[in-house]
Amino acid sequence: MKKVVVLGGGVGGTIVANLLAKRLRKDEAEITLVDISGKHIYQPGFIYVAFGKKNPKKLVRDERKLLRTRVKLVIDEAVKIDPLNHKVHLAKGPVLDYDRLVLALGARLVPDELPGYKEAAQHFYSIEGAQRLREALESFQGGRIVVTVASVPYKCPPAPSEAACQLDYYFTKKGIRDKVEIHYLSPLSRVFPLEPVNPVVEKIFAKHDIKSTIFFNVESIDPAKKAVSSIEGETFSYDMLLMIPPHRGAKVVEDSGLGDRGGWLPTEKYTLRTKANSDIFGIGDCTDIPVSKSGAAAHFEAKVVADSVVADIRGEQATAKYDGRVTCYCDAGYHKGFSMTFDYEHPPVPPPLSLRGWIGKQLVNLGYWMLVPQGRV
Ligand SMILES: Cc1cc2nc3c(=O)[nH]c(=O)nc-3n(C[C@H](O)[C@H](O)[C@H](O)COP(=O)(O)OP(=O)(O)OC[C@H]3O[C@@H](n4cnc5c(N)ncnc54)[C@H](O)[C@@H]3O)c2cc1C
Repeated sequence: MKKVVVLGGGVGGTIVANLLAKRLRKDEAEITLVDISGKHIYQPGFIYVAFGKKNPKKLVRDERKLLRTRVKLVIDEAVKIDPLNHKVHLAKGPVLDYDRLVLALGARLVPDELPGYKEAAQHFYSIEGAQRLREALESFQGGRIVVTVASVPYKCPPAPSEAACQLDYYFTKKGIRDKVEIHYLSPLSRVFPLEPVNPVVEKIFAKHDIKSTIFFNVESIDPAKKAVSSIEGETFSYDMLLMIPPHRGAKVVEDSGLGDRGGWLPTEKYTLRTKANSDIFGIGDCTDIPVSKSGAAAHFEAKVVADSVVADIRGEQATAKYDGRVTCYCDAGYHKGFSMTFDYEHPPVPPPLSLRGWIGKQLVNLGYWMLVPQGRV
Protein backbone atom coordinates (compact mmCIF):
# COMPACT_ATOMS: atom_id res chain seq x y z
CA MET A 1 0.00 0.00 0.00
CA LYS A 2 1.21 3.52 -0.86
CA LYS A 3 1.99 6.01 1.88
CA VAL A 4 1.13 9.71 1.87
CA VAL A 5 2.64 11.86 4.60
CA VAL A 6 1.46 15.43 5.23
CA LEU A 7 3.60 17.70 7.41
CA GLY A 8 1.66 20.48 9.15
CA GLY A 9 -1.89 20.48 10.47
CA GLY A 10 -2.82 24.06 9.63
CA VAL A 11 -5.12 25.22 6.84
CA GLY A 12 -3.41 23.52 3.88
CA GLY A 13 -2.34 20.28 5.57
CA THR A 14 -5.71 19.59 7.16
CA ILE A 15 -7.66 20.16 3.94
CA VAL A 16 -5.35 18.01 1.85
CA ALA A 17 -5.36 15.13 4.38
CA ASN A 18 -9.16 15.18 4.60
CA LEU A 19 -9.63 15.32 0.82
CA LEU A 20 -7.23 12.41 0.33
CA ALA A 21 -9.02 10.39 3.01
CA LYS A 22 -12.31 11.03 1.24
CA ARG A 23 -11.08 10.18 -2.23
CA LEU A 24 -8.53 7.40 -1.87
CA ARG A 25 -9.73 3.93 -0.89
CA LYS A 26 -8.30 2.45 2.31
CA ASP A 27 -6.45 -0.19 0.31
CA GLU A 28 -4.94 2.45 -1.98
CA ALA A 29 -3.08 4.59 0.54
CA GLU A 30 -2.31 5.17 4.18
CA ILE A 31 -2.54 8.86 5.08
CA THR A 32 -0.51 10.28 7.97
CA LEU A 33 -0.49 13.89 9.14
CA VAL A 34 2.27 15.12 11.44
CA ASP A 35 1.73 18.26 13.48
CA ILE A 36 4.00 19.63 16.15
CA SER A 37 1.24 20.71 18.55
CA GLY A 38 -1.86 18.74 17.55
CA LYS A 39 -3.76 22.04 17.75
CA HIS A 40 -5.33 23.83 14.80
CA ILE A 41 -5.17 27.59 15.11
CA TYR A 42 -7.37 30.08 13.24
CA GLN A 43 -4.92 32.94 12.74
CA PRO A 44 -7.28 35.52 11.12
CA GLY A 45 -8.94 35.77 14.54
CA PHE A 46 -5.77 37.10 16.20
CA ILE A 47 -6.54 40.72 15.30
CA TYR A 48 -9.90 40.46 17.05
CA VAL A 49 -8.17 39.15 20.20
CA ALA A 50 -5.92 42.23 20.15
CA PHE A 51 -8.89 44.57 19.93
CA GLY A 52 -10.82 42.76 22.67
CA LYS A 53 -13.49 41.28 20.39
CA LYS A 54 -12.57 37.59 20.49
CA ASN A 55 -11.81 35.07 23.19
CA PRO A 56 -8.53 33.39 22.16
CA LYS A 57 -9.89 29.99 23.23
CA LYS A 58 -12.31 30.19 20.29
CA LEU A 59 -9.40 30.19 17.85
CA VAL A 60 -7.91 26.83 18.82
CA ARG A 61 -9.28 23.33 18.23
CA ASP A 62 -7.89 19.83 18.53
CA GLU A 63 -6.58 18.78 15.15
CA ARG A 64 -7.86 15.24 15.75
CA LYS A 65 -11.44 16.49 15.80
CA LEU A 66 -11.02 18.19 12.42
CA LEU A 67 -9.56 15.16 10.66
CA ARG A 68 -11.40 12.23 9.11
CA THR A 69 -10.94 9.16 11.29
CA ARG A 70 -8.80 7.29 8.79
CA VAL A 71 -6.13 10.02 8.79
CA LYS A 72 -3.45 8.94 11.24
CA LEU A 73 -2.41 11.96 13.33
CA VAL A 74 1.11 11.99 14.74
CA ILE A 75 1.78 14.76 17.24
CA ASP A 76 5.50 15.30 16.86
CA GLU A 77 8.01 17.63 15.24
CA ALA A 78 9.35 16.76 11.80
CA VAL A 79 13.07 17.48 12.10
CA LYS A 80 14.56 16.16 8.85
CA ILE A 81 13.28 15.35 5.39
CA ASP A 82 15.37 12.89 3.38
CA PRO A 83 14.12 13.10 -0.24
CA LEU A 84 16.65 10.57 -1.55
CA ASN A 85 15.39 7.79 0.71
CA HIS A 86 11.78 9.04 0.92
CA LYS A 87 11.88 9.40 4.70
CA VAL A 88 10.82 11.94 7.33
CA HIS A 89 12.60 11.95 10.69
CA LEU A 90 10.62 13.02 13.75
CA ALA A 91 11.92 14.48 17.02
CA LYS A 92 10.52 11.61 19.11
CA GLY A 93 8.69 9.09 16.97
CA PRO A 94 9.81 6.55 14.36
CA VAL A 95 11.05 7.45 10.90
CA LEU A 96 8.16 7.74 8.41
CA ASP A 97 8.42 6.43 4.84
CA TYR A 98 6.46 8.09 2.08
CA ASP A 99 5.53 7.68 -1.55
CA ARG A 100 4.18 11.23 -1.71
CA LEU A 101 5.03 13.96 0.81
CA VAL A 102 3.04 17.19 1.26
CA LEU A 103 4.73 20.08 3.07
CA ALA A 104 2.23 22.49 4.62
CA LEU A 105 4.43 23.77 7.42
CA GLY A 106 3.45 27.44 7.48
CA ALA A 107 5.78 30.38 8.08
CA ARG A 108 7.96 30.90 11.15
CA LEU A 109 8.09 34.09 13.21
CA VAL A 110 11.72 34.99 13.92
CA PRO A 111 11.67 38.12 16.13
CA ASP A 112 15.31 37.55 17.17
CA GLU A 113 16.42 38.43 13.64
CA LEU A 114 15.75 42.13 14.27
CA PRO A 115 17.72 43.46 17.26
CA GLY A 116 15.50 45.39 19.67
CA TYR A 117 12.29 43.85 18.30
CA LYS A 118 11.45 41.79 21.37
CA GLU A 119 11.92 44.68 23.83
CA ALA A 120 10.26 47.31 21.69
CA ALA A 121 7.52 45.92 19.48
CA GLN A 122 3.94 44.78 19.86
CA HIS A 123 2.27 42.47 17.36
CA PHE A 124 -0.81 40.31 16.81
CA TYR A 125 0.79 37.43 14.88
CA SER A 126 0.41 34.88 17.68
CA ILE A 127 -2.20 34.40 20.40
CA GLU A 128 0.29 35.51 23.07
CA GLY A 129 1.31 38.56 21.01
CA ALA A 130 -2.34 39.53 20.46
CA GLN A 131 -3.08 39.23 24.21
CA ARG A 132 -0.08 41.43 25.08
CA LEU A 133 -1.17 43.99 22.49
CA ARG A 134 -4.69 44.02 23.94
CA GLU A 135 -3.28 44.85 27.38
CA ALA A 136 -1.03 47.55 25.93
CA LEU A 137 -3.95 49.11 24.05
CA GLU A 138 -6.13 49.07 27.16
CA SER A 139 -3.58 51.11 29.10
CA PHE A 140 -2.58 53.44 26.21
CA GLN A 141 -3.62 56.99 27.01
CA GLY A 142 -2.28 58.83 23.97
CA GLY A 143 0.73 59.45 21.77
CA ARG A 144 2.06 58.17 18.46
CA ILE A 145 1.48 54.57 17.36
CA VAL A 146 3.71 53.52 14.50
CA VAL A 147 2.38 50.56 12.48
CA THR A 148 4.76 48.75 10.14
CA VAL A 149 6.34 45.45 9.10
CA ALA A 150 9.81 44.24 10.02
CA SER A 151 10.43 42.76 6.57
CA VAL A 152 8.81 41.06 3.59
CA PRO A 153 7.40 38.53 2.93
CA TYR A 154 4.94 38.17 5.78
CA LYS A 155 1.59 36.42 6.24
CA CYS A 156 -1.64 38.15 5.23
CA PRO A 157 -0.31 41.27 3.44
CA PRO A 158 -3.41 43.39 4.22
CA ALA A 159 -3.18 42.72 7.99
CA PRO A 160 -1.00 45.71 9.00
CA SER A 161 -3.15 48.27 7.16
CA GLU A 162 -6.22 46.56 8.60
CA ALA A 163 -4.63 46.99 12.03
CA ALA A 164 -4.16 50.73 11.39
CA CYS A 165 -7.89 50.98 10.61
CA GLN A 166 -8.77 48.97 13.72
CA LEU A 167 -6.63 51.29 15.87
CA ASP A 168 -8.55 54.28 14.55
CA TYR A 169 -11.89 52.60 15.25
CA TYR A 170 -10.79 51.38 18.71
CA PHE A 171 -9.61 54.80 19.94
CA THR A 172 -12.59 56.58 18.39
CA LYS A 173 -14.93 54.30 20.36
CA LYS A 174 -12.80 54.87 23.44
CA GLY A 175 -13.21 58.64 22.99
CA ILE A 176 -9.49 59.45 22.85
CA ARG A 177 -8.82 59.37 19.09
CA ASP A 178 -7.77 63.05 19.21
CA LYS A 179 -4.95 62.07 21.58
CA VAL A 180 -3.63 59.26 19.35
CA GLU A 181 -1.58 59.73 16.19
CA ILE A 182 -1.53 56.67 13.93
CA HIS A 183 1.38 56.56 11.49
CA TYR A 184 1.63 53.75 8.95
CA LEU A 185 5.04 53.00 7.44
CA SER A 186 4.99 50.93 4.25
CA PRO A 187 8.05 49.22 2.78
CA LEU A 188 6.56 49.55 -0.70
CA SER A 189 5.92 52.38 -3.13
CA ARG A 190 2.33 52.55 -1.88
CA VAL A 191 0.33 51.95 1.28
CA PHE A 192 -1.46 48.75 0.24
CA PRO A 193 0.42 45.85 -1.38
CA LEU A 194 -2.09 45.31 -4.21
CA GLU A 195 -1.86 48.25 -6.58
CA PRO A 196 -5.52 48.33 -7.79
CA VAL A 197 -6.75 48.35 -4.18
CA ASN A 198 -4.31 51.00 -2.99
CA PRO A 199 -6.59 54.00 -3.79
CA VAL A 200 -9.37 52.43 -1.69
CA VAL A 201 -7.07 52.11 1.33
CA GLU A 202 -5.52 55.56 0.80
CA LYS A 203 -9.03 57.03 0.88
CA ILE A 204 -9.83 55.25 4.15
CA PHE A 205 -6.55 56.46 5.66
CA ALA A 206 -7.24 60.06 4.56
CA LYS A 207 -10.80 60.00 5.91
CA HIS A 208 -9.68 58.72 9.29
CA ASP A 209 -6.51 60.76 9.63
CA ILE A 210 -4.15 57.78 9.46
CA LYS A 211 -0.81 59.23 8.38
CA SER A 212 1.42 57.24 6.05
CA THR A 213 4.97 57.13 4.74
CA ILE A 214 6.04 54.90 1.84
CA PHE A 215 9.46 53.38 1.07
CA PHE A 216 10.17 52.71 4.73
CA ASN A 217 12.10 49.43 4.98
CA VAL A 218 13.03 48.85 8.60
CA GLU A 219 16.74 48.78 9.32
CA SER A 220 16.86 49.12 13.10
CA ILE A 221 14.92 49.78 16.27
CA ASP A 222 16.30 51.81 19.17
CA PRO A 223 14.20 50.71 22.17
CA ALA A 224 15.86 53.24 24.51
CA LYS A 225 15.04 56.21 22.26
CA LYS A 226 11.75 54.65 21.15
CA ALA A 227 12.65 55.17 17.50
CA VAL A 228 12.57 53.09 14.34
CA SER A 229 14.84 53.79 11.36
CA SER A 230 14.73 52.73 7.72
CA ILE A 231 17.29 51.65 5.15
CA GLU A 232 16.15 54.72 3.21
CA GLY A 233 17.44 56.96 6.03
CA GLU A 234 14.30 58.11 7.85
CA THR A 235 13.66 57.81 11.60
CA PHE A 236 10.34 58.03 13.44
CA SER A 237 9.82 58.11 17.18
CA TYR A 238 6.91 56.22 18.69
CA ASP A 239 5.02 55.72 21.93
CA MET A 240 3.84 52.32 20.76
CA LEU A 241 5.46 50.30 17.98
CA LEU A 242 3.10 47.84 16.30
CA MET A 243 5.34 45.85 13.97
CA ILE A 244 4.69 42.58 12.12
CA PRO A 245 7.63 40.35 13.15
CA PRO A 246 10.22 39.03 10.69
CA HIS A 247 9.22 35.73 9.02
CA ARG A 248 11.19 32.78 7.64
CA GLY A 249 10.27 29.47 6.07
CA ALA A 250 9.87 26.29 8.15
CA LYS A 251 12.86 25.16 10.20
CA VAL A 252 12.68 21.55 8.99
CA VAL A 253 12.81 22.77 5.39
CA GLU A 254 15.92 24.81 6.14
CA ASP A 255 17.54 22.07 8.22
CA SER A 256 16.97 19.58 5.40
CA GLY A 257 18.65 21.88 2.88
CA LEU A 258 15.42 22.27 0.92
CA GLY A 259 14.83 26.00 1.41
CA ASP A 260 16.01 29.13 -0.38
CA ARG A 261 17.81 31.98 1.44
CA GLY A 262 14.67 32.86 3.39
CA GLY A 263 13.93 29.22 4.15
CA TRP A 264 11.02 29.19 1.66
CA LEU A 265 10.44 25.99 -0.29
CA PRO A 266 11.04 26.42 -4.06
CA THR A 267 7.75 25.22 -5.54
CA GLU A 268 6.40 25.18 -9.10
CA LYS A 269 3.54 27.69 -9.04
CA TYR A 270 1.03 25.70 -11.15
CA THR A 271 1.62 22.04 -10.23
CA LEU A 272 2.71 22.80 -6.63
CA ARG A 273 5.41 20.14 -6.87
CA THR A 274 8.68 21.20 -5.31
CA LYS A 275 11.26 22.16 -7.90
CA ALA A 276 13.85 19.70 -6.57
CA ASN A 277 11.61 16.65 -5.98
CA SER A 278 8.44 15.96 -7.97
CA ASP A 279 7.13 13.53 -5.33
CA ILE A 280 7.11 16.33 -2.73
CA PHE A 281 4.39 19.00 -2.86
CA GLY A 282 4.36 22.42 -1.21
CA ILE A 283 1.27 24.23 0.03
CA GLY A 284 0.70 27.63 1.58
CA ASP A 285 2.97 29.85 3.61
CA CYS A 286 6.04 27.58 3.62
CA THR A 287 6.47 27.88 -0.17
CA ASP A 288 7.97 30.57 -2.41
CA ILE A 289 4.88 30.68 -4.65
CA PRO A 290 4.30 34.29 -5.79
CA VAL A 291 0.92 34.82 -4.11
CA SER A 292 -0.13 36.29 -0.74
CA LYS A 293 0.78 34.08 2.17
CA SER A 294 -2.84 33.48 3.11
CA GLY A 295 -5.23 30.83 4.30
CA ALA A 296 -7.21 31.42 1.13
CA ALA A 297 -4.23 30.52 -1.06
CA ALA A 298 -3.43 27.46 1.08
CA HIS A 299 -7.08 26.41 0.79
CA PHE A 300 -7.18 26.56 -3.02
CA GLU A 301 -3.73 25.01 -3.33
CA ALA A 302 -4.71 22.07 -1.10
CA LYS A 303 -7.40 21.05 -3.58
CA VAL A 304 -4.92 21.00 -6.47
CA VAL A 305 -2.42 18.99 -4.45
CA ALA A 306 -5.12 16.49 -3.42
CA ASP A 307 -6.06 15.98 -7.10
CA SER A 308 -2.42 15.44 -8.07
CA VAL A 309 -1.64 13.05 -5.22
CA VAL A 310 -4.72 10.95 -6.08
CA ALA A 311 -3.60 10.82 -9.72
CA ASP A 312 -0.02 9.88 -8.75
CA ILE A 313 -1.16 7.12 -6.38
CA ARG A 314 -3.38 5.67 -9.11
CA GLY A 315 -0.66 5.92 -11.76
CA GLU A 316 -2.72 8.42 -13.77
CA GLN A 317 -1.62 11.65 -15.44
CA ALA A 318 -1.90 14.56 -12.96
CA THR A 319 -3.47 17.56 -14.71
CA ALA A 320 -4.63 19.84 -11.86
CA LYS A 321 -3.14 23.33 -11.86
CA TYR A 322 -3.26 26.13 -9.28
CA ASP A 323 -4.25 29.38 -10.99
CA GLY A 324 -3.00 31.63 -8.18
CA ARG A 325 -6.46 32.31 -6.82
CA VAL A 326 -6.75 34.22 -3.54
CA THR A 327 -9.86 35.70 -1.93
CA CYS A 328 -9.31 38.15 0.83
CA TYR A 329 -11.52 40.18 3.21
CA CYS A 330 -10.53 43.34 5.09
CA ASP A 331 -12.30 44.89 8.08
CA ALA A 332 -11.91 48.66 7.91
CA GLY A 333 -13.74 49.33 11.19
CA TYR A 334 -17.12 51.08 11.62
CA HIS A 335 -18.82 47.90 10.27
CA LYS A 336 -17.34 48.53 6.85
CA GLY A 337 -15.12 46.22 4.84
CA PHE A 338 -14.17 45.03 1.39
CA SER A 339 -13.20 41.84 -0.38
CA MET A 340 -10.86 41.07 -3.24
CA THR A 341 -10.39 38.07 -5.51
CA PHE A 342 -7.45 37.72 -7.83
CA ASP A 343 -5.20 35.15 -9.49
CA TYR A 344 -1.96 34.96 -11.49
CA GLU A 345 -3.65 36.44 -14.57
CA HIS A 346 -6.26 38.76 -13.09
CA PRO A 347 -5.43 41.53 -10.62
CA PRO A 348 -8.14 42.49 -8.13
CA VAL A 349 -10.84 44.96 -9.16
CA PRO A 350 -10.97 47.98 -6.80
CA PRO A 351 -13.65 46.92 -4.32
CA PRO A 352 -16.38 49.08 -2.80
CA LEU A 353 -16.19 49.72 0.95
CA SER A 354 -19.46 48.43 2.35
CA LEU A 355 -21.38 46.81 5.18
CA ARG A 356 -21.65 43.78 2.91
CA GLY A 357 -17.84 43.52 2.76
CA TRP A 358 -17.67 43.60 6.54
CA ILE A 359 -20.39 40.97 6.93
CA GLY A 360 -18.51 38.80 4.41
CA LYS A 361 -15.48 38.79 6.69
CA GLN A 362 -17.56 37.94 9.77
CA LEU A 363 -19.25 35.07 7.89
CA VAL A 364 -15.88 33.65 6.85
CA ASN A 365 -14.73 33.78 10.47
CA LEU A 366 -17.90 32.04 11.66
CA GLY A 367 -18.05 29.44 8.90
CA TYR A 368 -14.39 28.47 8.94
CA TRP A 369 -14.55 25.58 11.40
CA MET A 370 -17.56 23.94 9.75
CA LEU A 371 -16.44 24.29 6.15
CA VAL A 372 -12.76 24.86 5.47
CA PRO A 373 -10.64 22.21 7.26
CA GLN A 374 -12.90 19.46 5.93
CA GLY A 375 -12.51 20.77 2.37
CA ARG A 376 -16.29 21.29 2.06
CA VAL A 377 -15.84 24.57 0.13
C1 LIG B 1 -2.94 38.05 12.12
C2 LIG B 1 -3.20 37.21 10.92
C3 LIG B 1 -4.32 37.44 10.16
C4 LIG B 1 -4.57 36.66 9.04
N1 LIG B 1 -5.70 36.91 8.31
C5 LIG B 1 -5.95 36.18 7.21
C6 LIG B 1 -7.13 36.39 6.45
O1 LIG B 1 -7.96 37.25 6.76
N2 LIG B 1 -7.33 35.61 5.35
C7 LIG B 1 -6.44 34.65 4.96
O2 LIG B 1 -6.68 33.97 3.98
N3 LIG B 1 -5.32 34.42 5.67
C8 LIG B 1 -5.05 35.15 6.78
N4 LIG B 1 -3.92 34.92 7.51
C9 LIG B 1 -2.91 33.96 7.02
C10 LIG B 1 -3.27 32.51 7.29
O3 LIG B 1 -3.58 32.28 8.63
C11 LIG B 1 -2.11 31.64 6.85
O4 LIG B 1 -1.68 32.05 5.58
C12 LIG B 1 -2.51 30.18 6.80
O5 LIG B 1 -2.73 29.69 8.09
C13 LIG B 1 -1.45 29.36 6.08
O6 LIG B 1 -1.78 28.01 6.08
P1 LIG B 1 -0.64 26.91 6.04
O7 LIG B 1 -1.33 25.59 6.01
O8 LIG B 1 0.35 27.24 5.01
O9 LIG B 1 0.14 27.10 7.44
P2 LIG B 1 -0.42 27.11 8.92
O10 LIG B 1 -1.88 27.25 8.95
O11 LIG B 1 0.40 28.13 9.65
O12 LIG B 1 -0.06 25.66 9.47
C14 LIG B 1 1.26 25.20 9.60
C15 LIG B 1 1.24 24.03 10.58
O13 LIG B 1 2.50 23.36 10.54
C16 LIG B 1 2.87 22.99 11.86
N5 LIG B 1 4.31 22.79 11.87
C17 LIG B 1 5.28 23.71 11.67
N6 LIG B 1 6.50 23.14 11.72
C18 LIG B 1 6.28 21.82 11.97
C19 LIG B 1 7.16 20.70 12.11
N7 LIG B 1 8.49 20.83 12.00
N8 LIG B 1 6.61 19.49 12.35
C20 LIG B 1 5.28 19.34 12.44
N9 LIG B 1 4.40 20.37 12.32
C21 LIG B 1 4.91 21.58 12.07
C22 LIG B 1 2.37 24.17 12.69
O14 LIG B 1 2.24 23.80 14.03
C23 LIG B 1 1.03 24.47 12.03
O15 LIG B 1 -0.02 23.69 12.61
C24 LIG B 1 -3.66 35.65 8.67
C25 LIG B 1 -2.54 35.40 9.45
C26 LIG B 1 -2.30 36.17 10.57
C27 LIG B 1 -1.08 35.89 11.41
